[in-house]
Amino acid sequence: MPKTADFLAHLNPSQRRAVEHYCGPLLVVAGAGSGKTRALTYRIANLVLTHRVDPENILAVTFTNKAAREMKERIEKLFAEREAQSKHGKPLEALPEHEQTRLKSFVYKTITKDLWIGTFHALCSRILRFDIEKFRHPGGYSWNRNFSIFDESDAQALVKDIVINQLNLDDKKFDPRSVRYAISNAKNQGWSPADLEREQPNFRGRTIANVYAEYQKALAANNALDFDDLILIPVQLFRQNEQVLAYWHKRFRHILVDEYQDTNRTQYDLIRLLVTNGEETENFKDWEYRSVFVVGDADQSIYSFRAADFRILLEFQDDFGDGLPDDDTRTMVKLEENYRSTANILEAANELIENNTERIDKVLRATRGAGESIFLFRAEDETDEARFVIDQIRQLEQNNPELHWGSFAILYRTNAQSRAFEEFLGRYGIPYNIVGGLRFYDRKEIKDVLGYLRAIANPQDTVSLKRVINTPRRGIGKTTIDRLESAARDLDRTLWEVLTDETLVSTLAGRSAKAVSGFTNTIQTWQAKLEDTPPAEIVQGVLEDSGYVADLKAQGTNEADDRLQNVQELYNAVLQFEEENEGATLLMFLANASLASDLDNTKEDQRQVSLMTLHSSKGLEFPVVFLVGVEQGLFPNFRSMEDPASLEEERRLCYVGITRAKERLFISYARERRLYGTREPAAPSLFLAELPKELLLTSAVGALPKKLATPIREVKAKRAQESLLNTHADDWKVGDRVVHKAYGAGQVTHIFGAGNKICLAIKFPGQGQKIIDPKITTLQRV
Ligand code: ATP
Ligand code: MG
Repeated sequence: MPKTADFLAHLNPSQRRAVEHYCGPLLVVAGAGSGKTRALTYRIANLVLTHRVDPENILAVTFTNKAAREMKERIEKLFAEREAQSKHGKPLEALPEHEQTRLKSFVYKTITKDLWIGTFHALCSRILRFDIEKFRHPGGYSWNRNFSIFDESDAQALVKDIVINQLNLDDKKFDPRSVRYAISNAKNQGWSPADLEREQPNFRGRTIANVYAEYQKALAANNALDFDDLILIPVQLFRQNEQVLAYWHKRFRHILVDEYQDTNRTQYDLIRLLVTNGEETENFKDWEYRSVFVVGDADQSIYSFRAADFRILLEFQDDFGDGLPDDDTRTMVKLEENYRSTANILEAANELIENNTERIDKVLRATRGAGESIFLFRAEDETDEARFVIDQIRQLEQNNPELHWGSFAILYRTNAQSRAFEEFLGRYGIPYNIVGGLRFYDRKEIKDVLGYLRAIANPQDTVSLKRVINTPRRGIGKTTIDRLESAARDLDRTLWEVLTDETLVSTLAGRSAKAVSGFTNTIQTWQAKLEDTPPAEIVQGVLEDSGYVADLKAQGTNEADDRLQNVQELYNAVLQFEEENEGATLLMFLANASLASDLDNTKEDQRQVSLMTLHSSKGLEFPVVFLVGVEQGLFPNFRSMEDPASLEEERRLCYVGITRAKERLFISYARERRLYGTREPAAPSLFLAELPKELLLTSAVGALPKKLATPIREVKAKRAQESLLNTHADDWKVGDRVVHKAYGAGQVTHIFGAGNKICLAIKFPGQGQKIIDPKITTLQRV
C-alpha cells in the first residue's frame, strides 16, 4: 500500500493541494462544478487518514442536511474501500454483502460517528444541548437542555399573538409576517431589540423592537428557541463565557465550511470565535495544529434576503490570513476546471455571469466535450410550457437507457410555478418529488404527534401543550383553556404547572377536570419513562394512550386514512432514526425533526423527477435540467428590476440554475402566463439576450408539434431566429433623456451590455434608478 491516500488519484493538482492542506487558513474559490465540495469531503478523509486527526476534532458545515448525509456516506465509503483493500486486497464491491456491511459498520463506529458534519443549525443545536444552561440572556431569561425548536409557523404564530393580543397593534400596519421577518433579520445581524431600535430610530423600528423583546420573552417562557437563536445564542454564549468557548475551540481544531459565500454575519462570528478563541487575528498565531478551510463561489451568492453577505468570503484572507495581501496563494487555492457540465452549458453560464459588474473575474474551463446545444423553447403559456417539458422528459427517458426519472430536474423561480408541471406529471404517472414543498414535518397530523412528544420532553412548551390538550377532542373547551391560561398568568406560573395543580384543576367543572387530569396523566406517564425508553416505544405508547390513532380510525374518511398513513410513516422515521443513531433519545429525534429543512428530500428515492426552486438547487447536479419561466418580471423577479444589486443577484441565481446541468439544458419562457390568478402577457427575460446565440437552438411556437415533442436532434429549428433576440437596438448613450409611461422623465446613467443585448439604467427624479430593457419597455426619447 502506498503511504499517500489512494483516493488522491481522483483529484487534479489544485484540488490535491486543497485536500492535502493541513494546518492554517485556506480559502478555496472556484466556479460551479469545479469540485469544491468534493475537495472538502476528501480533505476530511485525508485529515483522519494521513494526519491522524481524531474525528472528534473536526467540524464540517454543509448547506443542507441532505448534503451532510451525503458527505458522511461518501467519507464512510472512502474508508470502507480502504479497509477492503488493506484487509482483503479487493475493492469493496467485490466482497460478499455481509462483509461489506461489517466493514461499513466498523468505519461508522470508529470514524464517522464522531465526525460533526451538518448545517449551522444542526451543529449549533448539538452544542446547545450541552451548554445552553450556562447561557445568561441579557433579558434575564434562561433555557434548559430540553428546549423545543420552534419552526417558522410556530414562530409566526407567536409573533402574531403578540402583535394582535398582547400589544394590540394594527396588524395591517404591523403585518405579523413582515414583523417576524424584521426580527429574524435583526437576529441574523446579531442585533438585540435595543440594537434594532438604534438602527431604526423611528416609530416603526421602536414598535418592532418592542415585539422582538416580547417575542424573546415568550420563547424563553416556552423553553423554546427559533432557528435564528440556534446560531445567535451560541455566539452570545461564547462571548460571555470563556470556559465554554475554550472547550469548543479546543475541540474543533479543524473547521470546514461549504458554500461559504452564503454565510451571514452571525454564522461568520460563530466560525471566527471557534477558530480564534475570541482573540484578535493579528495576535492569533496558534495555527500549528488547527485549520479553517472554506470553499465558495461569490458568483453563487443567492441568499442576501437572509442576510448572507458574500463580502465575508472576499474578506476571508484578511480575516484569518495574518494580514498578507488578498491574492496570496499561500492561503488560497483556485480551481479552474469544471467537471460537471458540457462545454456548451458552461460557456453559456460563463457569458451570462460576465454581465455582472460586482464580481471578481475567474477562469472556469470545461473538461468535457461541447455536448448538445442549449434548447430554448417559447411556449404559448404555462400549460404549453409544462406540456413541452414533460414530453421531452418522456422522450428522453425512453430513448436513453442511462437516463431514469431521477436524472431530470425542473427549476423555477417561485414555488407557485410547480402546479402546471405537477398536472402533466400526474397525467402520465411519472413519479416526482417537490423539493421544498410542504415539509413532511409541517403536516397537521405530524405536528400534532410532535406536539405530544415536545410536551413530554419539555412541558414548559405551552405552544405544544395547547396544540394537543384537546386533540383529539376530549372535552377541554376553549373557555376552560382560557381560564387556565389566565390563572397561569396571574400566578406567574406555566400552563403545565397550572394543569398539574390538583387544587386549581378541581375548581373546573367536573367533566373538564376529569379530562384535564386524564390528559396530564398520559403526559406524565411518558415523562417518567423518557430517559430510559427508546423513542419509538414512546411514540407508539403516546399514540395509543392519547387516543389520537383511535380517533383517526374512528373517523373512517379518506382524509383520516391519509393522516393515519403519515403517522405510521413518522413512526417508521423514528425507528429508522434509532437504527442509524446508537443510543438515540427522543430529544435527539425531535431536534432532527425540527431541523429537517424544507430543502431536504424526505424520500430518498432517486427515481423521481425533481421539482424545485432555483434557490433549493444550489450544490446539486442533474443530467438534464429544465430552466422554466425565464421571463421579465418573473426571472428576474419584478422587485429586482429596479435595483441593480438585486438584479445581479438574480443573474447569479440564473448562473446557479444553468450550472446544475450536466448533459442537457432546456430553457423555456411563455408568451403569456397566469400566475397568482391573473393572466398577463410575458416577455422573455433579459438573461436570454445575454446567452451566446451560437449555443442556442431555438424554437418558436409552431416549430414543434404541440402534441408530441420531436426529439431534439430532429428539430429543424433555425439557430437564433428569435425575433426578440434580433430586435434592433437603438444607439443609446449615457445622458440620453427619455420619458417612461409610468415613471415620467428620466436620464440614462448607465448602459449594460452591448449591441442588441443592452439594458439601461435610468434615473427618474424622485423615483430612483430603474433598470430598463429598451427592447421590452417603450421609451420615448426627448
Ligand atoms: P457547486 O459550485 O455547484 O457546489 P462544486 O464546485 O462543489 O460545485 P462538486 O459538486 O464537488 O463541485 O463537483 C462537481 C462534479 O464534478 C461532481 O460530479 C464531482 O464528482 C465531479 N468531480 C469533481 N472533481 C473531479 C475530478 N478531479 N475528476 C472527475 N470528476 C470530478
Ligand atoms: Mg458544491
